[in-house]
Formats: sequence, C-alpha cells, structure tokens
Amino acid sequence: MTPRPPLLSVDDALDQIIKAVSTMPSERIAVEAALGHVLAADINANLSHPPADVSAMDGYAVHSSHLSSTPKKLTVIGESAAGHPFNGVLGADQAVRIFTGAYVPQGADAIVLQEDTNRDGDVVTILEQPKPEQFIRKAGQDFSHGDLIASKGATLDARRLALIASSGHGTVPTHCKPVVAIISTGDELVRPGSTPKDGQIVSSNDLFLTHLITSLGATAMNLGQMADQDDALTKAFDQAKSADLIVTSGGASVGNHDGVARHMNESGGLAFWRIAMRPGKPLIFGQIDQTPMLGLPGNPVSTGVCAMIFVAAAIRKMLGQDPLPKPSHAKLLAPLGENDRRQDYLRARIHVDDQGQTWAEAFNKQDSGMLKTFADADGLIIRPPHAPPAEAGTPVPVLLLPR
Ligand code: AMP
Ligand code: MG
Repeated sequence: MTPRPPLLSVDDALDQIIKAVSTMPSERIAVEAALGHVLAADINANLSHPPADVSAMDGYAVHSSHLSSTPKKLTVIGESAAGHPFNGVLGADQAVRIFTGAYVPQGADAIVLQEDTNRDGDVVTILEQPKPEQFIRKAGQDFSHGDLIASKGATLDARRLALIASSGHGTVPTHCKPVVAIISTGDELVRPGSTPKDGQIVSSNDLFLTHLITSLGATAMNLGQMADQDDALTKAFDQAKSADLIVTSGGASVGNHDGVARHMNESGGLAFWRIAMRPGKPLIFGQIDQTPMLGLPGNPVSTGVCAMIFVAAAIRKMLGQDPLPKPSHAKLLAPLGENDRRQDYLRARIHVDDQGQTWAEAFNKQDSGMLKTFADADGLIIRPPHAPPAEAGTPVPVLLLPR
C-alpha cells in the first residue's frame, strides 16, 4: 500500500491564508454610520467630560465652610441649570439653586440635596451639614482631553461609539468593510422556507456564513445556491470576482459532483487543498484571478468550524485585527481516546463550577453533518494531531463559541 501524503497542518494553512490576504484601506465615516466597523487608528479625546465641575443632583450649591452647624438659613442668589450656568460668585451665607448637570458656581464646594432643605421665598434652610465636594462631578472625572478613548482594531459597538461621540468626534477612521461573496454548491439545495422535494435539503450554510461574516465586520454578498455544474460555477466565480474574498460551500471533496476542487485545480489558482483537520479535511484555498478564495466542505459543521477559524482569520487580517483564534483552557469532564493525524475540533458543553473551574465535555457523536450539536455547543475542544489518550481532569485548549 502506498503511504498517504502528509496533510497540511492547521497552523500552516492559517499562515498561508493570512499572508495571502491584504488589509483593507481606511476611510473616515460618520459616528452615526460606524456600528460594527473596525477602527483603523487609536482615538484620543478632543474634549473633557464633564467639561467643568457639575452637579450630580438637584438641590442647592453651597460652601461647606458656611455650614458648620445646621439647620441654617442661606439666601438664594440665583439658579444654575444644565446649559444655563450661573455667572456670579457665591458669598458667605448664600446658596444657588442647582440642577443635575449644571455647572457648580464659583464659591461653592458642595451640593445639598433638595430633600435636605426647606425653601421659603429667597431663603433656603439647610437641614443636613454637607461634606466638601459632595454630589459634585469633577471636571474630567470621566475622561480628559488627550485620553485614549478607543484602540485601533476595536470593533465599534453602541457603547464605544457613544463614548467617542461624547469625546468630540463626529467621524472615525475605519477600515473599509471587505465584501465577501458566498457561493453554495449542491443540486440538492433549496432556499430556507421552501419545502424540499424528494432528494432535496434546505441550504443552511449560506445563511450561517452570511451571519458570521456580517458579525465579523465584513459585508456578506450571498450569491445563492448553484447547481453542481462546471458552467454554473464558472459563472458564479465571474460574478464573485469583484469581491475582496470568495467563500464557497460544498463540492470541495473528491466525488464526481465536487466541482470546486476540480475548478481550482484546472484554473491554476489552487494554493492548497486538504488539511489535517476534523471536521474540514477537504478545505481549499486559492485565488480566482486576484481574489482570494476559501472552499469550505459542505457538511454544515465543517463549513461552520472552518469558517470560524479560516474565514474569520482572513477577515480579521483584512480589518487590521489579530487574525489568530485565541483558545481558552478547560478541564475534561470525561476521558478522550488517542487522536489520529488530524487536529480535532470537538463540539462540547462547557461550564464553570462553583470553584471557578471551567469544564468541557465533548458530545458523544461528532458527525460533521449534525448541526444541532453545533448550535448547542458552548465551545470546541482542540485535540492536536496524535494527542495521547486523556483522562478526565486533563487541561485542554478550547475555542469558546460566541452566543
Ligand atoms: P459536499 O461537500 O458538497 O459533498 O456536501 C457534503 C454534505 O453537506 C452533503 O450532505 C450536502 O448535502 C451537505 N451540504 C452541502 N451544502 C450545504 C448547504 N449549503 N447547506 C446545508 N447542507 C449542505
Ligand atoms: Mg455537494
């Protein structure tokens, strides 16, 4: 028997993909339009917040030194409201009516809560002795001019964008979103929502890929389902070439109907085919003209796991982020047998016990056609090639799956 050729390792495959894809150029966009975009540069505050000492409560601005004993009557000399500062200076035995967010007037060092006073015309009786600085938000206590507000590579969410806007930015430098074309191959596929006829199944891979790609900060261009015919594939690739990355699902293996591998081989654009990984052995990487392409095996879990590792790495590189997945660690809840030459990614339940220890338990069945265990999994246990049998309690690397 001829020995089987060695398979490319997951790390080498990742390395080739990361080297072959380029980081997208950057553009300035409005903060209103920046949700889900990735920052192309650090952002420093243009403003301080609060811009001056402001009141945290509704009440009276006073000077604590005028109130060594209470109750005490003070004369109310004016009002300071948010957007309408009081311009005078507070003197002995005087108070200024103040509201949340209003500038603290000169001469005041504390706010007395409205509830701790009695008001009668221009006179307010202070019932509680204030501590210096109470209920005052100091200028710059949130952030000061020049502070780092957001770091290059951050994916912008609502919280970060609110902070960026309040620190004086109306636009942000972001990487242009890469457009990722998705092609699903398979004569058996019908669209979600339609009733499959005999021999047909619902295509779920392009839906999964669309959502994953979007959540990674790229723009998904779903070109739909293609028949297993060479000319259909050629047409689809022609349409997809304008994208920044092409992802296919299905047709990656050696069967008669697996056109993607054949097409890539014949076009001369193939960089590698088949890697030491389970699920996902028939992974394809190459180029269609100048556009990088990743051919994912069609089994839904193979598509899913390969996309979360390889498509994600490509997109993260394009967006100027660290492309490599970061494993966490867990202890095995049940033993695992010896591994063969492929790196395994085992769907697992993961939980943290009362002592804070993280435990992982692989599902009994790991068939790559079983989408339900993929949806139910909290993470993937990584088993390197030829890993020896592992007892319960053995620490293992895991990739946590986002919920
Ligand atoms: P293939 O890689 O084309 O040989 O497909 C492997 C398995 O995955 C077959 O059982 C296909 O029916 C299934 N499959 C392929 N494409 C999809 C898809 N888009 N959605 C769900 N299952 C698929
Ligand atoms: Mg197929």
